[in-house]
Amino acid sequence: MASVVTETLDPFATAQGQVRQAVEALGAPQAVYEYLKEPCRVLVCSIPVQMDDGQVKSFIGYRAQHTDVIGPTKGGVRFHPQVTLDEVKALSIWMTFKCALLGLPYGGAKGGVVCEPEQLSMHELEQLSRGYIRAISSIVGPERDIPAPDVNTNSKLMGFMLDEFDRLKGQNTPGLITGKPLVLGGSRGRAEATGRGCAVVIREAAQVMGFGLAGSTVALQGFGNVGSHAARLLAEMGCTVTAVVDARGGAYNPHGLDVAALTAWVGQEHSVANFPGSSPLSSEELFALPVDIIVPAALESQITAKVARTVQAKLIAEAANGPTTPEGSEVLFARGIRVIPDILASAGGVTVSYFEWVQNLMNYYWPESEVQEKLERMMVDSFHAMADMADRHGVTYRRAAFMVGIERLSEAMAARGWIA
Ligand code: NAD
Repeated sequence: MASVVTETLDPFATAQGQVRQAVEALGAPQAVYEYLKEPCRVLVCSIPVQMDDGQVKSFIGYRAQHTDVIGPTKGGVRFHPQVTLDEVKALSIWMTFKCALLGLPYGGAKGGVVCEPEQLSMHELEQLSRGYIRAISSIVGPERDIPAPDVNTNSKLMGFMLDEFDRLKGQNTPGLITGKPLVLGGSRGRAEATGRGCAVVIREAAQVMGFGLAGSTVALQGFGNVGSHAARLLAEMGCTVTAVVDARGGAYNPHGLDVAALTAWVGQEHSVANFPGSSPLSSEELFALPVDIIVPAALESQITAKVARTVQAKLIAEAANGPTTPEGSEVLFARGIRVIPDILASAGGVTVSYFEWVQNLMNYYWPESEVQEKLERMMVDSFHAMADMADRHGVTYRRAAFMVGIERLSEAMAARGWIA
C-alpha cells in the first residue's frame, strides 16, 4: 500500500511542540513546559440569542487564558463555524509568545464563538457580541484579560462588547477591550499596525541577509487589512510588488503592480482579480514565483511541505497566523529559506493594542506619528533579540522567537517563586 504523507494540522499539538522544543533548546526546567503546555484557565459557555425571527438560538463560546505570569492576558475573539476549543487554546499559547517576544506586559488569551457570521444580521451579531462578553464578564477586565478583534470580528463589535460590559459594571472601562472605535478610546495607527510591523521586520531581515529592499520583488497572499498595508509600506521602502492573490483570484505583473491603484481597485471590485495590466494567478503559482520575498497574509496552513519545495524566494514573512505547517517549515529550513515567524511578523497589531490599552489607562491619547515611532522601535528591538538568539544557538528564527519567550516567562515564574 502506498504510504500517505500527512501534515501536522492540529494547531494545539503544534503549539505544545514548539514550547517543548524551545524549553529543551534552552535547557530550562521541565516544570516550565509542564506549566505552559496548557492554558491556566478555560471557559466554555452557551450563549442564547434571540434571532430576528423571534426564535432563541444558543451558540457555543470559548475563552482560553494561557498564562498570567507576566501580566493580564490578551487576545482576540473570532466568530467562525470551525472554531474549536483546541484551536482557541493553541492561539492563546501563540499570543503568550508574541507578547513575550515583544516585551509586552501580558500573557496570551484567545476567544471564539462557533457561528456563521455571514448568515447573521447586524442585529444578531450585536446580540451575540453582547451575550459573549456577558458570559465571560467574570474573567475579563483591564487588569485580568483584554479581548480584541480577530477573524470576522471588528471594531464595531468591540464597541458593542465594551458597552455591554460598561452597562453591567455601571462604569466606563475603555481598557477592557482593544481595537475599539476611535471615539470610544481606540488608538490611532491600529488599522495598519500589523502590516507596518511586518514591513519593518522584513526591512531588518533583508539588512541582516545582505540585500537591499530597493528593487526587491514581493508576492503577497491576501490583500485585506494586513496584506494591503504591508504591500503599501514595502512599496514605500523601495520594493516592487509583483503578485497578489486573494480569495477570489490573483494579479501578476513581473514589472510591478501599482499598489495604490490596486487598493482603489479592490475598494470597488472587492478583489484583486482582473486588475488592469495584470495576469491571473493562483496561490499555488504565487508561492512558486521567482521573487525575493513572500508575505502570506491570508490563511493558516498554506505553506505545506509540497508548497515549500516550490518556493524560490529567499525570505518569507508570516503576516498571517500559522501559514506554514511544521513540515513546510522543515523543508524551508533545509532549503536555506529564511522565515520571519508569525509570532514576530504579525505582532504589530497586538503591540498597538497594547499602546491603546496604555492610552486608555492614562486617558491621554497619542498622535499617529508617536504610535508609529514606538511600534517601529519595539519591532526592531524584538527582531534583533530573536536574531541574536538564533545566532547564539544556531537555530531558526522560529525556534529562537520561542526561546526568547521561554527566557522571559521562566524568569517571571522564578521571580514569583514558582520554580527554583
Ligand atoms: P482580512 O479578512 O482583512 O483579509 C484576508 C485576506 O485574505 C483577503 O484579501 C482575502 O481575500 C484573503 N483570502 C481569504 N481566503 C483566501 C484564499 N483561500 N486564498 C487566498 N487569499 C485568501 O484579514 P486580515 O486582518 O488581513 O488578516 C489576515 C491574516 O493575518 C489572518 O491570518 C489573521 O489572523 C492574521 N493577523 C491579523 C492581524 C490584524 O491586525 N488584522 C493581526 C495578527 C494576525
